[in-house]
Amino acid sequence: MDKGYMNVMEELVATLVNVLMMSPDYQTFCHCQKCRTDIIAISLNNLPSHYVTTEEGRKMVFEQLNTNENRAWINKRIISAIHLVGKYPKH
Ligand SMILES: [Zn+2]
Repeated sequence: MDKGYMNVMEELVATLVNVLMMSPDYQTFCHCQKCRTDIIAISLNNLPSHYVTTEEGRKMVFEQLNTNENRAWINKRIISAIHLVGKYPKH
């Protein structure tokens, strides 16, 4: 945690975007760095932030967010972002 604070949602979304982009369902979408970062930014604009200031807090919030139920609605927003960037790519 180099800045002294971080958004745990950002960490989780970056991980989930990588997982989704590797799945066969999204093979046809562009995998370039620009599209990937746009997908992450759009998703994060549509998700609540969860800032923490300690490593302990990071682990605790990550565990709370990383449940099947939470991943389901977070993935829904990421999938919308994948489709939006796929339709209007900026690369
Ligand atoms: Zn691209």
